[in-house]
Amino acid sequence: MNDEVEIYAEALAIYGPTAQIMMMLEEMAELQIALLDRIRGRGDLDLCRRQIVEELADVSIMIGQMRHMFCSEAEFDRQKKLKIDRLGERIKARMAKLKAETELLETR
Ligand SMILES: [Mg+2]
Repeated sequence: MNDEVEIYAEALAIYGPTAQIMMMLEEMAELQIALLDRIRGRGDLDLCRRQIVEELADVSIMIGQMRHMFCSEAEFDRQKKLKIDRLGERIKARMAKLKAETELLETR
């Protein structure tokens, strides 16, 4: 067990799953607010960027705890690979469609 996973396990043991699920929701909300601030141009751009990075780190830590709570590394990795493969296929299909549309316009 690496240090990070050990810390996730300890946090879950000390605070309990309900508190950590609540923390996950709170950190996701903070990231949403930081991203909305960036989209709406609220405040200094570099401050917005740094807040996004901070909230990404918080969410990433909570995702680590949720992964530890709900699934094995192997199950998560399989699910993530499926999603990435699906995204890759959608991008490939979209690119082929755009290319066909461009070629059609060029022949007119
Ligand atoms: Mg936070």
